[in-house]
Amino acid sequence: MIFSRKKQELIDPYTVEQCTSCNTLKKRKFVVGDYVFKVAGKCASCANGQMVIAKIYGEAVK
Ligand SMILES: [Zn+2]
Repeated sequence: MIFSRKKQELIDPYTVEQCTSCNTLKKRKFVVGDYVFKVAGKCASCANGQMVIAKIYGEAVK
């Protein structure tokens, strides 16, 4: 978890991976070293796709 300076609330960061072939989306917890357009690995849903990080965002902890 990281601390947001703007709203003074706890933010849980998430990473969204997208397959370049079949566009499958996968959301997971952010890990240090993640950045947008990083190749995250092979797609589990199709034979030749690659998972690329499409978005990194934070959700407020409730
Ligand atoms: Zn795929």
